[in-house]
Amino acid sequence: MAECPNCGGYRVSEETSYISKGYETSESAYYRSVIFIGLLAIGLIIWGVTQISNTTISGIALILIGITLVFLIPVQLRKYWSLPVRYKFKCVLCGYSWKMDEGEAQPEVTVRPELIAKGEDRIAKQQQQAAAQWKANMDYYHFVMHQKKKK
Ligand SMILES: [Zn+2]
Repeated sequence: MAECPNCGGYRVSEETSYISKGYETSESAYYRSVIFIGLLAIGLIIWGVTQISNTTISGIALILIGITLVFLIPVQLRKYWSLPVRYKFKCVLCGYSWKMDEGEAQPEVTVRPELIAKGEDRIAKQQQQAAAQWKANMDYYHFVMHQKKKK
């Protein structure tokens, strides 16, 4: 688990992305593109099958394009898995954010207990507020349901 270089806390959110030719691609964007290719392939194959009875050649062509796309998926996967990974961290406690590329050394950590305590305090307050909000919502819900039963 990552440690925040700014406060020394361990409450850190992490995001992974791939770097290709200077561009950063987030993991989710990349999986979306793979799913898109997969759906496109399935669509083309189904379209091809329905076309075969009308025009055999275009039907076969569509199926072949679909199959080619299916084979492109593992190629795409391997391409991405070989790219260097960039980790993006954000400290939940003090708000500090930093980046680290694969193979890079951990940044030096300065422990600041007062920042950690302040962050913990803020999170506890946020949780209390969320709980109070939830209770208020439930009270309102029960009130509305009760009113409905009366009618
Ligand atoms: Zn921090």
